[in-house]
Amino acid sequence: MPTIAAPPAADPVAELAIDTRLVRGGTRRSGNRETSEALYLTSGFVYPDAETAEAAFAGPEEGWIYTRFGNPTTAMLEDRLAMLEGAPAARATATGMAAVFAALMASVKAGDRVVASRALFGSCHYVVTKVLPRFGVEAVLVDPGSLDQWRDALKPGAAAVLFETPSNPMLDLVDIAAVAGLAHAAGARVIVDNVFATPIEQRPLALGADVVVYSATKHIDGQGRCLGGAVLGGERFIIDELQPFLRHTGPTISPFNAWVFLKGLETLGLRMERHSRSAARIAAFLGDHPKVRAVRYPWLDSHPQHAIARRQMRRGGGMVALTLDGGKAAAFRFANALRLADISPNLGDAKTLIAHPATTTHANVAADERARLGIADGSLRLSVGLEDPADLLADMERALSLA
Ligand SMILES: *Cc1c(COP(=O)(O)O)cnc(C)c1O
Repeated sequence: MPTIAAPPAADPVAELAIDTRLVRGGTRRSGNRETSEALYLTSGFVYPDAETAEAAFAGPEEGWIYTRFGNPTTAMLEDRLAMLEGAPAARATATGMAAVFAALMASVKAGDRVVASRALFGSCHYVVTKVLPRFGVEAVLVDPGSLDQWRDALKPGAAAVLFETPSNPMLDLVDIAAVAGLAHAAGARVIVDNVFATPIEQRPLALGADVVVYSATKHIDGQGRCLGGAVLGGERFIIDELQPFLRHTGPTISPFNAWVFLKGLETLGLRMERHSRSAARIAAFLGDHPKVRAVRYPWLDSHPQHAIARRQMRRGGGMVALTLDGGKAAAFRFANALRLADISPNLGDAKTLIAHPATTTHANVAADERARLGIADGSLRLSVGLEDPADLLADMERALSLA
């Protein structure tokens, strides 16, 4: 028998405010009555007798078997994530890419079509355009903001739709409700990568999406320690289609990482409030600076899809994209001059991080496709951290004077 078990539906915390769910959702105490969630760092579980083992294997819901099939610490994370988003079910994975890949692979078969936004994270772009076609799945890419392109691409029907909003790195938006309407009319499952917005700033399921994927590596950890991911959605998809795929192909999250993410979620609301507030200040400052050619931030009036942001997001999030006059040389001078922003491909960290997409995360994307995505040689992606925003602003002002 599981020593800790309670389906999230039975948890009265599910009815409470999001800040309460972040701290208490999914918590199941063991007989030791620990305060902090217990870390079950074990690969397997033992049984008092062979009969109990037989019963556990007959129905995995009857008891824990093996961590690739399920683990009490991981289950707490899954229940807390599901509760945050109002999703019927969730499963955690080893990385964000494992979550994206599993959500797609559990949705398609040879002969199917996938319609995706062209503004995709580099590895998602690779999966859609390089991996799926090898298995007979056709991939069609569209401009994220063009409803006409979504409509045309979906006309012949599709099995799945995949997009990020805001996108990495240029913060393009997709109108979730509008694209979900078109996708559902075409018979497609809508998978949204909600990494940039986090469940705090945007709830795609409430806007019509069917599945939400996360890289927990980013804001859910929030302190740059562990890799992980999650897929959230309806019971039928998560339990009947995704779970067998995960259990038998094995992109299992370490219970240790799941435990770190449980602790990360406790402060996610507080952190996102600060990330969003500081990023909005920094975006406004950069937008007024003569050396900055363009700034992309969903909460700025200058964002071409600002109206969509106001409709579907709660705040703008912690990510800002900027393009400097002077191309790569100016971008490098600026990044190198910053003292309070580390040059790193990660994001969502307590520490402010900066990346030059054209030479790092998007170096493998062809130059004409990069141009189409608005990624110029002078473009930088900024992940605004939790430092004092006045210190960050002063640091940027100084670095811009040297750029
Ligand atoms: C980082 C990221 C991923 C991949 O997550 P990993 O945890 O690094 O595998 C997917 N989508 C977006 C938008 C990301 O930023």
